[in-house]
Amino acid sequence: MIIVLKTNASEEQIQHICDRIEKMDLMAHLSRGTFRTVIGVIGDEAKAQVAPLEALPGVDQVVAIMKPYKLASLDAHPQPSVVDVSGVKVGGGNLAMIAGPCAVEEEERMDRIAAAIVDAGANILRGGAFKPRTSPYAFQGMGKEGLRILRDVGQRHNIPVVTEVMDPRDVELVAEYADLLQIGARNMQNFSLLKEVGDSTRPVLLKRGMSATVQDLLMCAEYILSKGNSQVILCERGLRGFDSYTRNLYDVACVPIVKELSHLPIIVDPSHATGKPSLIPPCALAGIAAGADGVHIEVHDCPEEALSDGPQSLLPSQYEEVMQQMQGLAQLLGKQISPLAGAISS
Ligand code: PEP
Ligand code: MN
Repeated sequence: MIIVLKTNASEEQIQHICDRIEKMDLMAHLSRGTFRTVIGVIGDEAKAQVAPLEALPGVDQVVAIMKPYKLASLDAHPQPSVVDVSGVKVGGGNLAMIAGPCAVEEEERMDRIAAAIVDAGANILRGGAFKPRTSPYAFQGMGKEGLRILRDVGQRHNIPVVTEVMDPRDVELVAEYADLLQIGARNMQNFSLLKEVGDSTRPVLLKRGMSATVQDLLMCAEYILSKGNSQVILCERGLRGFDSYTRNLYDVACVPIVKELSHLPIIVDPSHATGKPSLIPPCALAGIAAGADGVHIEVHDCPEEALSDGPQSLLPSQYEEVMQQMQGLAQLLGKQISPLAGAISS
């Protein structure tokens, strides 16, 4: 860490800053220039990060050298991490293909959708049992019965399942039923929830908040990693934009940015990012071309009857078509859609 002092910093102020640094068990290395003095802080930067050094009189700027997300950064782990979702590998050239309805609605419907997406080549089944809705009057999800249906359908089709957990008090319950715990965009910075899933042995799918920077996303992943859960998959699902043509603004550049900064796998969710079925296939392909480790798409067999996110759902036949295109692109890039064989849904 480097502390740049103000041009008019006094000797007393410089001494005070050095004293504060030494009190933190760090060393201060003073470098006096013609106009400015800078102080190099030597030692474990994490110790200094917690201190409000910018508030010290005489300080102009504090420049961190280390990334604040230590465990999520490439420095900590130069090879791409591979997350194991009950046998389905995600990352390091293995693609996750997550598909299913926005919400679990009824068992027969879930069965039909699961059969179709497995047939098309998907390797993780999704379905929300606890739904974060803008309106308290909208369908809130089936709760525990939804979890039961999702797990049973997943077992029947031998495919791991992912579902959202919204409340720290539900983590244990959801972890009993799901192979992968989803943290939704609205909860990305729910730190109590992040700590709770950090204590879980289940892998976590962390969706980017709709106004979160890439650094915010990585800091939230750091919460989970720092509790001991190393199985984190990131997800780009669109940001709040100014153009109402799409539901959100798809930030596909976030994928290669994350690859430059972190070893964690990142997938894309063109369903929530665009909100429009016609835009989902091209945006899914763009995500894979940008280096994403998977694609998350909402699929419903009768979108007009869907209890949530019907208008953005692909029909099974549309999903099958985009899956074929994604398979072709994956092959071209030397990647593979993780096979389901060997995956054990719990
Ligand atoms: C969802 O996956 O259905 C969902 C609510 O996603 P997000 O948190 O990205 O809005
Ligand atoms: Mn949805």
